[in-house]
Amino acid sequence: MAVSSGVLALQGDFQKHVSALEACGVRAREVRTPGELEACGRLIIPGGESTTLGILLQKSGLDKAICGRAEQGMPVWGTCMGLILMAREIEGGDQFRLGLLDITVDRNAFGPQVNSFEADVQIKGLDEPFHAVFIRSPAVTRLGEGVEALAGVCRKVVAVRQGSLLGTAFHPELTCDRRMHAMFLEMPTDDRR
Ligand code: GLN
Repeated sequence: MAVSSGVLALQGDFQKHVSALEACGVRAREVRTPGELEACGRLIIPGGESTTLGILLQKSGLDKAICGRAEQGMPVWGTCMGLILMAREIEGGDQFRLGLLDITVDRNAFGPQVNSFEADVQIKGLDEPFHAVFIRSPAVTRLGEGVEALAGVCRKVVAVRQGSLLGTAFHPELTCDRRMHAMFLEMPTDDRR
């Protein structure tokens, strides 16, 4: 049986990720409960509002379920808010986070919502630049051991990988370029699925 790719659907722009995954030819599933996560071989945490999602993750029990699966090697990709929630440390804040990636993030590194922007970004592993949309995006300000910087903009790190964990400060689901989704889908799932 083909394994589903999950998109965390408690809050934020999850629907765009579902469509992007389907455009890549895989079965996508919205995830709102630990039971729904069980049926998935990988998970995307979309953009949204990280303080709100932190509360919803704890209420649903998905915080522990996601961390448990990530420990077993399930690929997880956080975009924008997802990157913030995957970080071990958030500058100047003690809000809830999953702490999966050994990084520190500056939550609004590029300023407020009105300073949102688009840029062509060179990403390690992709031949041509990627047109990236940044909406009140974070940046990575510390990289732990084993964390690789994949891309930078304005001298700030905006994409990282640590084993089967991927984080991007921008929103690849908002353009028609599916190369980042394809990169994520190439990561092997944990053995159980
Ligand atoms: N900066 C936002 C936050 O802290 C994330 C913005 C986004 O996901 N577009 O949650």
